Amino acid sequence: MVVREIVDLYDRYQSARAVAKQLNAVGRRTKRVTAKNGNVSGGKKWAKDAVLRVLKNGVYAGFMPYGDELHEAEHEAIIDREKFKRIGAALDRKQKSGRRYGNNPEYLLRGILRCGNCDSAMTPASTRKKGKVYRYYRCVQRDKRGAKECDVRQIPASAIEDFVVDRIRNESIGGALSKQIVKSLETSVENKRQELKIERGELPKQIAKLSDEGRRLVDKVASMNGTAAKLMENRINEVGEQLGQAESRLRQVEWSLMELDRAEAEGKWLAESVEKFDTVWETMTPMNRVRLVSILVKSVTMNEKEDTVTAVLTDLFADEDQHEGNDPPERFPANTAVETTV
Ligand SMILES: [Zn+2]
Repeated sequence: MVVREIVDLYDRYQSARAVAKQLNAVGRRTKRVTAKNGNVSGGKKWAKDAVLRVLKNGVYAGFMPYGDELHEAEHEAIIDREKFKRIGAALDRKQKSGRRYGNNPEYLLRGILRCGNCDSAMTPASTRKKGKVYRYYRCVQRDKRGAKECDVRQIPASAIEDFVVDRIRNESIGGALSKQIVKSLETSVENKRQELKIERGELPKQIAKLSDEGRRLVDKVASMNGTAAKLMENRINEVGEQLGQAESRLRQVEWSLMELDRAEAEGKWLAESVEKFDTVWETMTPMNRVRLVSILVKSVTMNEKEDTVTAVLTDLFADEDQHEGNDPPERFPANTAVETTV
């Protein structure tokens, strides 16, 4: 069932484009439909929009679309409703914020920066004065509900971004972080890959065995009747079910192996970027800067009133490294924040 596959993949990748790519990579095609006049449509490669249409289609979750609302449908849901709702919410969020992100990856801390005063997100904003653009981050709470809910000022973007970049630069010095990334990547990816490869070797044998048994049973049942035939049919159904499960597991294993390749490539890029951070950062595209920071930095909290910033790096090595969280918040003199020209 390709619909379920799409939902599961989206759950994992959070990107319709990535889902389409994965589907095409294993030879999935869109549903082929023949119209009454004989015109054939579909049967094509998956594209981002086709994936989105499936994800937004409430019918698959057992809902019937009615205007803009979804109502309970009489048929059974073929995908998990909670998952459907969760994905719907994620898509809505993307629609609202995604467009600007795509055109303007200039705000390094988008989605990472929080207001220490009221614990809401801080979002990018800019003003234009005499032809110059000044970039800021603003508390969402204050933006929406005014200064009586949260009375922090907007903060200039460059100063706090530089602070976070310096924090990463400091961590990268000496190459220990980069080595750690490589090491943790090697062990986790290799172990997982070995397991999956063994499974990928075993599953086809199991599938062949089951389909053999199925064929033999079908041959036999033809010459039977009554209770014996009934029992035989039950067994045939059982074998069919097991066969379906084994085939779907095999597909999952293939996906997981591909996903590992992707994670490995991403990890290598990360390790290389961290290793030569000082030289690489200067020439990195804005998109890649955002990518790097979003992997390495878990959160940044700005306490505007106390002039402090706390940056928490992502715990990439949760199993073996507990030094994080104990670091004292780093002082950040907000007075040195400078107006910037973009
Ligand atoms: Zn606030």
